Amino acid sequence: MSILIVGGAGYIGSHVNKYLNREGYDTVVVDNLCKGHRESVRWGEFLQGDIGDIDFMNEVFSSRRIEAVMHFAAFAYVGESVIMPAEYYKNNVVKTMTLLDSMMNNGVNNFIFSSTCAAFGEAVEIPITEFHVQNPINPYGFTKLVVERLLKDYDRAYGLRSCIFRYFNASGADPETEIGEWHEPETHLIPIIFETATGKHQAVNIFGTDYPTTDGTCVRDYIHVYDLAEAHKLGMERLISTGISDHYNLGCGKGFSVREIIDIAGKVTGKAIKTSEVKRREGDPPVLIGSMQKAESLLKWKPQFSLEDSISTAWKWYLKKEKI
Ligand code: UDP
Repeated sequence: MSILIVGGAGYIGSHVNKYLNREGYDTVVVDNLCKGHRESVRWGEFLQGDIGDIDFMNEVFSSRRIEAVMHFAAFAYVGESVIMPAEYYKNNVVKTMTLLDSMMNNGVNNFIFSSTCAAFGEAVEIPITEFHVQNPINPYGFTKLVVERLLKDYDRAYGLRSCIFRYFNASGADPETEIGEWHEPETHLIPIIFETATGKHQAVNIFGTDYPTTDGTCVRDYIHVYDLAEAHKLGMERLISTGISDHYNLGCGKGFSVREIIDIAGKVTGKAIKTSEVKRREGDPPVLIGSMQKAESLLKWKPQFSLEDSISTAWKWYLKKEKI
């Protein structure tokens, strides 16, 4: 039996793929490479194709024994989703429905879904638990919430079981530096800081300095991608052994402001990072910090990596990728 990882050539999917192989699982990666990189798939079988192509997906399932599907094949930029919502709904919702159809056509009913803290919207209580109201403020968050709701209905009606993870800010890279974060173009804060440290940008644009936070900049909960990978393994195993659908927030329970991240990244890289204060980015909530309590108690999961670990593993990967 194999685990199918769709979107396994992307940032989080490629780390989960490496992690599962190291833990003794067989994996099959499906990715259309619209954002992911073939070079990031170094473990398991690789198939290039689109989850929205029902014939292709039926062929993937019918010719292999797939026990569970992990879904990372989503568009995930908050800012971009505000500008091009149609692409986000088509890719993140419509194609996911086709993927679920192909699973059900082939009798595969364990689904691990990457949702997001953006599905909560503005926090009314910190840290954000699984009971927090979900009221997204950007199309990206809505696309994920739509799928979360749909999964509940599919469970009841069709017996499709799911494990939903709402990630806070994925960060860091493989500690062995074989793979890492690799987006083109890059929009995420930590790699943007590295690009600035190495002269690709004049300064890091700080999006908004008038938020109701201690230093006026947005606060996020940064979680190492390997900690996320471990949670996926534990969540999948619990889903398969209990046959019960569930959902978990994956954060560290600690927030860092944009300015704090820039300061720490400056220390890790040993570089002076220039900054420029610009207006808020549309769709950004002021504070997102996740509670890990449920994942800790049910999955026995606890993040192992600190923020400094995340920034230093990401920096090593960045230097390798850029051949610096
Ligand atoms: N951010 C910023 N400048 C940048 C990129 C990001 O100030 O060049 C801020 C962004 O507004 C957010 C935080 O950094 O508050 C993390 O953003 P990122 O895009 O890394 O992740 P997101 O929270 O959107 O998933």
